Amino acid sequence: MMRPIRGFESDPEGHWVATLSCGHGQHTRHDPPAVERPWVLTPEGRAARVGAELDCVRCDRLEMPEGFAPYKRTRAFTEQTVPKGLLADHTTAAGVWALIHVTEGRLLYRVESLGLERILTPGTPGTVAAEVPHRVACDGAVAFYVAFWKAAAPA
Ligand SMILES: [Zn+2]
Repeated sequence: MMRPIRGFESDPEGHWVATLSCGHGQHTRHDPPAVERPWVLTPEGRAARVGAELDCVRCDRLEMPEGFAPYKRTRAFTEQTVPKGLLADHTTAAGVWALIHVTEGRLLYRVESLGLERILTPGTPGTVAAEVPHRVACDGAVAFYVAFWKAAAPA
């Protein structure tokens, strides 16, 4: 899926990595003649690309970004107490991912934009990508909670 560039960092080899709104990084090397991106070598060139979108395949695969850590969680919900908002399409905020943890029973998890439908059970959490609409549905008795993840503060 397309994700806007928030900024750039250089990796240990000195290659430039675009940091995307989702929390993933994507190499934007200038490596002639195979890859010509002379703009990435100047601060002005990089600044001009902030806001441009890159296709993030790691978001398509629902891979939690590296360096993310859980920072809060909801209370436990059951099929009786699940907030209605979770049963309709909703999203997390920019830069916020989540894991849906089922502790008893099973929960249906749907991400329409990815054509994904999963049955979550204890031990198989569902990963929620930042800003991607998703919803859950109960299928009998269930207990679950949602843990929210964001970029850990730099050490
Ligand atoms: Zn991503």
